[in-house]
Amino acid sequence: MKLLFYDTKSYDRESFCRQLVNFPDIEIDYLNGDLTPRSAVIARGYDGVCAFVSSDVGARTLELLDSYGVRLVLMRCAGFNNVDLKTAARLGIRVLRVPGYSPEAVAEHAMTLALAANRHVHKSYVKVRENDFSLSGLMGINFFRKTAGIIGTGKIGSAMARICRGFGMEVLAYDICENPAAGPVKYVALDELLAQSDLISLHCPLTEENYHLICRDTIRKMKDGVIFVNTSRGGLVKTADLIEGIQDRKFFAVGLDVYEEEAANVFEDRSDEILENSETARLLSFPNVIITSHQGFFTKEALAAISQVTLENARAYIEGRETPNEIREPGAACT
Ligand code: NAD
Repeated sequence: MKLLFYDTKSYDRESFCRQLVNFPDIEIDYLNGDLTPRSAVIARGYDGVCAFVSSDVGARTLELLDSYGVRLVLMRCAGFNNVDLKTAARLGIRVLRVPGYSPEAVAEHAMTLALAANRHVHKSYVKVRENDFSLSGLMGINFFRKTAGIIGTGKIGSAMARICRGFGMEVLAYDICENPAAGPVKYVALDELLAQSDLISLHCPLTEENYHLICRDTIRKMKDGVIFVNTSRGGLVKTADLIEGIQDRKFFAVGLDVYEEEAANVFEDRSDEILENSETARLLSFPNVIITSHQGFFTKEALAAISQVTLENARAYIEGRETPNEIREPGAACT
């Protein structure tokens, strides 16, 4: 089987090369560029493509891949909001992903963002380097005995709930399906979670139903001085409304690993460029906001699991085996 990998970096190639010794029937070529309708043509002659979080796996790309004989899309990530599943199903292209490769990697990053933003680590790091040992602007809050609100209690949300309980927090949860594996959390309505939580962390997938879940209306329902973290998908938050909320002093701190305008930035060094997008620049101008570049997944353990499961998915396809990693239904069905 010949696979073409899009949007790869050196660490992806190293990780997959290490695994390939166990998959002698699979051959991989790697591209730096991402999958788009324009770059789909390079996949002519390959059995499958492997795409990532910023790839455009929309209807046009899939139709082109289909015309070049590509029958398989391997997503080397958990999220699949960038895949047009209806078109894939219509064309008979199978789409497989890597769910839950390391929920702790993302949950630990969510807590990292919450703590760093709360205790202003980004500011204190710079201050001390400048021999400014004063504490002005650095005061935080204790998490102990505070309330965490987890939206989406699947694998990552459950790991985040565990971490929050470790801090001595009460954990409220909101989900369209309750998960018994989430441990001792208290499921409440979304409005109650918004009103009661000192820390709100998003861990649901982006679907048609929850696009801009966090917007002016839901932000107004949050406690004043809330800490808000998004490591899930940028489209869950309406950035203009988040900026408005920050300006209204609604948030004590905000930590974002994902944001709406990230597609052009993610995993690229753009330090010599003048960035054209004003919303990201505006967010970065606030002293109580920390943004990281979609790095929640980025641990050694997660990369090893991603490469192993992606190749196991390819093998399941070759052998015609069913796998729970196949994505069939669009939307927010309970898993
Ligand atoms: P999961 O499928 O195990 O859990 C998702 C949970 O969200 C489920 O319990 C589901 O019922 C719930 N849900 C679905 N729609 C909802 C809604 N409208 N409101 C509330 N809950 C809803 O997924 P997971 O492995 O925990 O991953 C969650 C998300 O994390 C992924 O979809 C992806 O977007 C994101 N993610 C980010 C990174 C990163 O690097 N930042 C890495 C991996 C995953």
